[in-house]
Amino acid sequence: MVPVGVAATLALAACGTLAWKVFRPKGVVYGSDALVMQCLFCDIAHGRTDPAKGGRPADQRLQGRLLHETADVAVFCNLAVHAHLHLLAIPKQHLQNISVLGPEHIPLLQQLKAAGTEALREILANEVDEATGRRIRTPAEVEEEARNNFVFNFHVPPFNSIDHLHLHCLHLPSHGWLSGLKYNPTCCPVPWSCSCDDVLTKLQ
Ligand SMILES: [Zn+2]
Ligand SMILES: [Zn+2]
Repeated sequence: MVPVGVAATLALAACGTLAWKVFRPKGVVYGSDALVMQCLFCDIAHGRTDPAKGGRPADQRLQGRLLHETADVAVFCNLAVHAHLHLLAIPKQHLQNISVLGPEHIPLLQQLKAAGTEALREILANEVDEATGRRIRTPAEVEEEARNNFVFNFHVPPFNSIDHLHLHCLHLPSHGWLSGLKYNPTCCPVPWSCSCDDVLTKLQ
């Protein structure tokens, strides 16, 4: 049997590890003056991980390749795919998370959602049946998917996975109930996730 003192120490260590995972700075290196020294998503947004531009790929699956880009936002595949399609839309400007947003960021959030929608729509429109080589969906079916099965969610800090604001853009179905609970929690309000529309409403 494990002595009580040892069990308490182990429990404290486990809590400490969990707290560190939730509250640590993620994916970003800050200088002593809180300036951003290095940020994976800033690198991706500015093409510094694009092999075609001489960059070093951040990940084999990601390849640093942007799916969609405007002057202010960039869209790329999420590394861990939790739904049929799972993209991230990020601002090119470094913003930490939704807690730093104000009414002045409403147009930016609308751009993120529009860019994510466009990228999801384009992928669906070009998906082909491997056997026949023909497109799976008609343009009308793509629009129906966009209406019914596109989901746009932000992390609520401190549950953000990386310290650069990003909108999770999904085409459902989710990959299992746990993915659904994390990225498409429709049953009730949850502390870790908030829809893009809800954030926009709060900012207005
Ligand atoms: Zn950044
Ligand atoms: Zn995330």
